[in-house]
Amino acid sequence: MKKVLSAYLKYLFSALMVLALASSCQTAVDETNWWRGNMHTHTFWSDGDDFPEPVAKWYRNNGYDFLVFTDHNILLETPTTGPVRGSHRLIDGELWQRLSTDHPAIIKYREFFGEDWVDILPDEEEGYLQVRLRPLDEFRFMFEEPDSFMLMMGNEITDQHAVHLLAFHQDEVIPTAGGNEDERADMIREIVSRVDEYRERTGRNTYPALAHPNFRWAVTEEMILEAEDLRYFEVYNGHPAVNNEGDEFRACTERMWDIVLSKRLERGNGKLLYGFATDDTHRYHSEGATPGRGWVMVRSEDLTVESILDAIDNGDFYSSTGVVLSGLEYNGNQIRVEIEPEEGVTYTTEFIGTMSGVDLTGKPTLDGEGNEIHNTTGTYSEEIGKVLAVTNDLSSSYTLTGDELYVRVKITSSANQVDRITGEVIGRQVAWIQPVKPGI
Ligand SMILES: [Zn+2]
Ligand SMILES: [Zn+2]
Repeated sequence: MKKVLSAYLKYLFSALMVLALASSCQTAVDETNWWRGNMHTHTFWSDGDDFPEPVAKWYRNNGYDFLVFTDHNILLETPTTGPVRGSHRLIDGELWQRLSTDHPAIIKYREFFGEDWVDILPDEEEGYLQVRLRPLDEFRFMFEEPDSFMLMMGNEITDQHAVHLLAFHQDEVIPTAGGNEDERADMIREIVSRVDEYRERTGRNTYPALAHPNFRWAVTEEMILEAEDLRYFEVYNGHPAVNNEGDEFRACTERMWDIVLSKRLERGNGKLLYGFATDDTHRYHSEGATPGRGWVMVRSEDLTVESILDAIDNGDFYSSTGVVLSGLEYNGNQIRVEIEPEEGVTYTTEFIGTMSGVDLTGKPTLDGEGNEIHNTTGTYSEEIGKVLAVTNDLSSSYTLTGDELYVRVKITSSANQVDRITGEVIGRQVAWIQPVKPGI
């Protein structure tokens, strides 16, 4: 524990130094910038397979401007109040991770950060050790730099029956709602209202995001519609097991998005639903949910937690798995998009929307034998989420007629999306631009 204390004092000193430097060197950014961030990240604090410091290092070294830690029902802080997993041990409110001595994470951790930084205790079993997990406040000084890189505390509110919602800018764990399989819509609604209550109480401009709706086919479009105050969901989640694409009978996440938008805007509360692309990173040394798959590009003047969340609240961001924009404007009447081209790559830009007056009634979805598939988004008119215009130009625009319920833009590149750890091709590079309503 003496070592822990001396490491802590060392950290405190460095943090004070960084604070002193930051206050004297900080310069104002006088132009609007695009900031790239991953909003969904796991580490050893829950079921990720690495320490948070190398994770922060990976994102900072790979072109990201910010990263949100979203471990399951836990914050990266001491004293730890979240769940203690089988490989964890809790000592005086501190979380320790049990690892085999040859685990790639501990080998890299020692190599990157040095023996003085790594707090180790012996384990009862030979060939294993216990390593203290450092809270965010102990290591953020190593990575954060004004206008360059920022870390944000969040968590994944992980409820039963695969109902998961991301919460950002948190200083407390919002409890899960609990319920049986048929109460998933209530669980989503309850968690949304708990985060709303947190926002009002703390003044932090944070809204939850429904994660991976098709994971274990847990969440349907009808359930999302019941959560009227839900503002964000994941249109793309990089985890290979989450079924972004749907299947033969089940809607893909984009189709769910179009149905929800159409119904909300035709006769619901008129609230737009914004779509995130995220990594949901779990694997840093092996195949699976690896980093670098999906991210958001947020337009704001400053790289601060508040300005990033304000910009997202305003829909001033797009989601991407590789496509980069150099221009994006909406003036209430016309959407203009400009793609940052890559050599030898072609792009297809689709303006997608639903016209007012389209039949929005859903019918139960049936399998090949005509039996209703339980817990599945219904079958709806093809007029919902229709391609209103398409082009291969790098610069394009769409002028709204005023009869669209909403319009959103999807850009698909001819370039492949490649796994950054294994080199495997995992899809096409895409950008999803947030939906807009006519006149707003
Ligand atoms: Zn999840
Ligand atoms: Zn997750």
